[in-house]
Amino acid sequence: MTQPLLREIRTLIAAEGPLPVSRYMALCLGHPRHGYYITRDPLGATGDFTTAPEISQMFGELIGLWAVAMWQQMGAPAPFRLVELGPGRGTLMADALRAARLVPPFAAAASLHLVETSPALRTAQARTLAGLAPAPAWHDRVEDVPDGPAIVLANEFFDALPVDQFVFALGAWHERRVGLEADGRLVFGLDPAPSHAAAAFAAGLPGPAEGAVLEHMESGPARALATRLAAQGGVALVVDYGHAGGFGDTLQALARHAFADPLAAPGEADITAHVDFSALATLARAAGLKAFGPLGQGDFLTRLGLPQRAERLKRDAGAAARAAVDAAVARLAGAAEDQMGRLFKVLVLAHSDAGVPPAFDPSEEFVP
Ligand code: SAH
Repeated sequence: MTQPLLREIRTLIAAEGPLPVSRYMALCLGHPRHGYYITRDPLGATGDFTTAPEISQMFGELIGLWAVAMWQQMGAPAPFRLVELGPGRGTLMADALRAARLVPPFAAAASLHLVETSPALRTAQARTLAGLAPAPAWHDRVEDVPDGPAIVLANEFFDALPVDQFVFALGAWHERRVGLEADGRLVFGLDPAPSHAAAAFAAGLPGPAEGAVLEHMESGPARALATRLAAQGGVALVVDYGHAGGFGDTLQALARHAFADPLAAPGEADITAHVDFSALATLARAAGLKAFGPLGQGDFLTRLGLPQRAERLKRDAGAAARAAVDAAVARLAGAAEDQMGRLFKVLVLAHSDAGVPPAFDPSEEFVP
C-alpha cells in the first residue's frame, strides 16, 4: 500500500526536524489531499467510528427540542443563525429540524450554517438535509458565519482539533514531537529545550509527577466562537468526550472501530484527543460568556426526556425495533464507567442575556 501522507511527513521531518503533535495531527486529519477527513466519510458501521446521532434519531431530536426551548428563552430572535460545527453526515441536524417542526416559527426564523472542511462530508450533509428547511450554507471556519445571534451545536467537533503535548521530565516541561527513525518509522520524542509555553499552561495545576503529560488544544476555533457569542448573542452546545482539566495522554487513533497506533498510518485513522472542558469553559468566561456543565450526556438526555421519547417510539414498533430503541437508550445514556452517557459530557457556553440553558440548573454554572 502506498502511503502518500507518510512519505510527505518523512520529507517534512527530514527538512525541518521533528513536528509538534498539533502539526502532525492537523496534517493527518486535514491535509488538503490526503487528510483523513478530506478523503472519506469515516462514520458508521462500515467506517471507523460511530457517533451519537448515528446511533439513534432520538439524540438529534432531543437536541432539536433543546434548541427550540433555548431560542424561545432568548426571546425568539428573528432572524437568527442555527450553526453546526463539524456536522458529519448531517444526521443530527436533520433529526433536530424534524423535531423542531413542532414550533414552525423556529425554522422560519433560522438560517442554517454548517462549518465543515471535508468535501466528502459536505456532500453527505447536502444529501441528508435535502428537502428540509432552512437550506444550509457551508463555511470553512467559525469566523465565516455571518453576524447575528446564534445557536451553535457541536458534537464530537472539538476532539478533532489539534493538540500539543508536553511531558514533565527531570524537573521541566518538554514538548513532545513526532520524529523519524533511521528505518523510516515515525516515533515520539521530546524537544530537549524546556517549554515556557507549557509552564504557563500548567500554572495553577498541582505539581506534576515525573512523566506527566499535559495537553493543550488549538484554541483558535473556540476563541472565535466565544468572541462572536459574547459580541452578538447566543449559545453553543458542546458535546464531546473529555475531562475537567489535569494531566494525561488522551491522544488516540481509531480505525475500523478499534484503537490504532496514531503514528502507524497517518491519514488512514481518525486521531482525537479528549476535550479539556475546564480550559474551554475558562476561555469562554474570559471572553465574557457564562459556561454551564460539564454535565454527563446521560443526565442531559434524560432531563430532556429520553425515556419518554423512547417509550413513544416503542409504542408503534415491533419486537426487534423495540429492542433496538432500548439498546440505543443504553448506549447513549448508560452511566457505567466505559459508556457514552458518562464518558461524553455537555458544556453550554452562553451569552449572559440567554439565561440558564434548558436542562441545566443555575447551580451547574461552571465556576473555577
Ligand atoms: N458531529 C458529527 C461528526 C463528528 S466527526 C457526528 O456527531 O456524527 C468530526 C466532524 O468535524 C467531521 O464532520 C469533520 O469533517 C469535521 N471537522 C474536523 N476538523 C474540522 C475543522 N478544523 N473545521 C471544520 N470541521 C472540521
